[in-house]
Amino acid sequence: MVKNKELLQMEDASLSKTSRIKYFNIVIDSGQGAVIKDVEGHEYLDLLASASSTNTGHCHPRIVKAIQDQAAKIIQYTPAYFANTPAALLAQKLGEVAPISGPVKVAWGNSGSDANDGIIKFARAYTGRQNIVSFMGAYHGSTYGSMSASAVSLNMSRKIGPFLPGIVKVPYPDPWHRLPNESETDFVDRMFAAFLEPFQTYLPAEETAVIMMEAIQGDGGIVKAPTAFVKKVVNFAHQHGILFAVDEVNQGLGRSGKMWAIQHFAVEPDLMSVGKSLASGLPLSAVVGRQKIMDSLAAPGHLFTTSGNPITTAAALATLAVIKDEKLVERSAKLGQVAAEFFEEQAKKHDFIGSWRMYGLDGGIDIVDPKSKKPDVVATNKLIYRIFELGAIIISLRGNILRFQPPLVITKEQLHQAFAILAQAFDELAAGEL
Ligand code: PLP
Repeated sequence: MVKNKELLQMEDASLSKTSRIKYFNIVIDSGQGAVIKDVEGHEYLDLLASASSTNTGHCHPRIVKAIQDQAAKIIQYTPAYFANTPAALLAQKLGEVAPISGPVKVAWGNSGSDANDGIIKFARAYTGRQNIVSFMGAYHGSTYGSMSASAVSLNMSRKIGPFLPGIVKVPYPDPWHRLPNESETDFVDRMFAAFLEPFQTYLPAEETAVIMMEAIQGDGGIVKAPTAFVKKVVNFAHQHGILFAVDEVNQGLGRSGKMWAIQHFAVEPDLMSVGKSLASGLPLSAVVGRQKIMDSLAAPGHLFTTSGNPITTAAALATLAVIKDEKLVERSAKLGQVAAEFFEEQAKKHDFIGSWRMYGLDGGIDIVDPKSKKPDVVATNKLIYRIFELGAIIISLRGNILRFQPPLVITKEQLHQAFAILAQAFDELAAGEL
C-alpha cells in the first residue's frame, strides 16, 4: 500500500511552499458524500467540503455520470472560438437562478479569483471609472486583481507588491467589533461613517466604479454584516452611479441557507462572481451581471482557453439540478438550525467559545482565552488536531476560528457523529487533556 508519508515526502521535494496551507499529513484518495478516505484507507468526516467547493458532496452519482458522459463526447474545444451545448444551457440557467432581476449575461472563468478580476474589468469598462472599493477581511482570490482587493492575510501581500492601483479598502462591520453596550443601530451608524470617510476625504464617488463585497465574509471568519449596513452601502452606490458587486464564490449555491448569501439582505447586486461549488469543485467560475454591464467588454477582454469547458459546464448543470432536486438550500437552512443548537449548547458549557454564528451549514466558532477573551490560536490548533485524530476534518480561519462548512448532503447521522467528535474534543480541552 502506498503510504501517506512516502507520498508527502516525494511531493515536498517538488511542490512549492505556496501550494498548500499545511494541516494534516494525509493524501486524499477518494470520497463519497460527506466522507473522504486517505491512501491508507482511513476515513474522515469532511466538515470543510473542500473549502466549500463540494456543496453537493464528493462523487455525487449524477455529477459523476454527467462528467463521464460529456468526457466520452468531447473533452475540450476552446469556448473562446466555438460554443458547446452544456455551456450554452448553463449560461441560460445561471441567468435564471441569479439574484438579479432583468436581463442577465454571463462570462466564464476557471477560478473564483479570475471571476473577481472580471468584476473589476466589467465595472471599469461599463462605468469608465477607475476606483474600486472592497472591504477589510475580504478574500477575493489569488490573481493580481482579486488579491489586490483582498485584505485578510499578510502572506498574501509579502514580497509580491505592488498591487493593482485604485483599490481602496474600507472596514467591514464585523459584529465582533461592536463596542460594549453599543446598540445595533449605533454600530451600523459608526461603521457606515467609517465607510463614508474615504469618499469625504480623498476618493471621489463619481470616479468610483464598484463596491465589491462578500455579504458574508468567508475567510474573514464566516462573518455577516448587519442588513441595515448593507442596505446603506447599496443606497449610497445607487446615489452615485457606483455598481454593487457581490462575491458568492464561497457563500453561494446554498451554503448559507439561501441560494445566494446576498439574499439574506434583500438587495440586488449588479454583478456577482461564482465558482468553487458551481461545478462541484471542477475549475469553473462565472461573472454574472446585468446585461448592459456584461455587454461593455468585447472579446478577448475576459476569456481563457478552457473557461466554459464542456466537462465543467456539464458538471455545473448537474450540480444545479442536484441542488434543486435534493432541496439542498432548504436542507442547508434546516441542518444549520440543528448545528446552531449544538454550538449554542457547547458555548454555554465552555467559556473558551468566545462567540459563534451559523448561517445554514456555514459556521464560525471563535476559540478564545477564557480569561482575556483574546483569540487563542494554540487551543484552536489543539482542537483541530484532536478532531482529526477522532475522524473529522475541520480547519481554522484567522488562526482561532473553527470553520464549519460540511457538504450540504451530509446526513443527519453524520452530522450527529460530527457533533460527538467536536463535543469530545471540547471536553478534553476543558479538562486540560489536550
Ligand atoms: N472569493 C472568495 C470569497 C473565496 O473564498 C475564494 C477562495 O477561497 C475566492 C474568491 C477565490 O477562489 P479560487 O480559489 O477558486 O480562485
